[in-house]
Amino acid sequence: MRTAVVHAAGDLRVEERPAPVPQPGDVLVAMTHGGICGSDLHYYREGAVGSFTIREPLALGHEVVGKVAEDPEGRLRPGTPVAIHPGTSCGSCQECREGHPQVCRHTRYLGSAATFPHTQGGFTGQLAVPSGRLHVLPAGLPLSRAVLAEPLAVALHALNRAGGVAGARVLVNGAGPIGALTAGAAVAWGAEEVWASDVREPQLRIAERAGAGTTVLVGEDTLPDEHFDVVVEASGAPSAPAAVMGAIRRRGVMVQLGAAPAEPVRVPFGPVVAKEIELRGTFRFEHELGNALAMLASSDRLEAVVTRSFPLRDAVEAMETAADPAVPGKVVLLLDGEDTSHGAACGTVEHEGPAQTAAGTDSTTRTTRRAAP
Ligand SMILES: [Zn+2]
Ligand SMILES: [Zn+2]
Repeated sequence: MRTAVVHAAGDLRVEERPAPVPQPGDVLVAMTHGGICGSDLHYYREGAVGSFTIREPLALGHEVVGKVAEDPEGRLRPGTPVAIHPGTSCGSCQECREGHPQVCRHTRYLGSAATFPHTQGGFTGQLAVPSGRLHVLPAGLPLSRAVLAEPLAVALHALNRAGGVAGARVLVNGAGPIGALTAGAAVAWGAEEVWASDVREPQLRIAERAGAGTTVLVGEDTLPDEHFDVVVEASGAPSAPAAVMGAIRRRGVMVQLGAAPAEPVRVPFGPVVAKEIELRGTFRFEHELGNALAMLASSDRLEAVVTRSFPLRDAVEAMETAADPAVPGKVVLLLDGEDTSHGAACGTVEHEGPAQTAAGTDSTTRTTRRAAP
């Protein structure tokens, strides 16, 4: 089985591993698609994500979907398309008992060095998964779109942490894949206004196609004062909390979704106090994977977030592409070896082609706010 494995910082190998042997209760899944996440990139480039350091070879990948290859207990028919919940929490700690398994300190997450032995990930040919962690895809949802379910669940959890966004004015700061999904999800959940801000134009165009109504190019455009009920900070940039604080309305909520750097970040507490702003963190997701699949099945708009795909054997090139800030959107690995495309643009971007550049110059299609200085 071809598998993408990090051995150390900068050392990613596509190597053969033996096929997994299902344990009682497991279903054998033939993997088809895997989205490359920021954490995969950190393992690849730095050999660590925050304090989680690679101590043994680690197969990457937690945004993974596939088809049932074999269910020894006969509940799921071979070929059934499934999404995989990447997390297993302990079920007995206080957080688990209170219904918040995403903050369980004992969680094992696919493709993660948080625990030792590490939890080997899903950028591979087959995975044995406990049946309770499988979600059968809703009818009509292609696996190529369902690969967004895990990051979309993360986005939905951030919106739930905000207390919901129906009727709200929402700003998503940072239009990487998670930010773009958050913007699109906020629209689907009935936000009155959804804005996306980023330092890069191509990222904003993706957020726009995912549903953001207004985009703000940081450094060129200005955010309105005290306008937003909810700000989801999805960039993790150290300068971001100070940059967005003025845009939050009195008694508004700021949800920190972007992974903050290890070093302390300056947060201006003056407005937090004087405007009674609530700061909330958000981590992974609880129960939102099913909601994410339903949302993906109901519309193909979020597919705009997937921009490139590579066969698994080209995992190194795929990682380098995903790490390139000039490439917006989500890079996906094709895990079943069927597709031989090489870094092919996929999804709707293919049809758009150079129009992505044109969108930045065509004032009739541009909705970027040009606020008065
Ligand atoms: Zn991820
Ligand atoms: Zn627990």
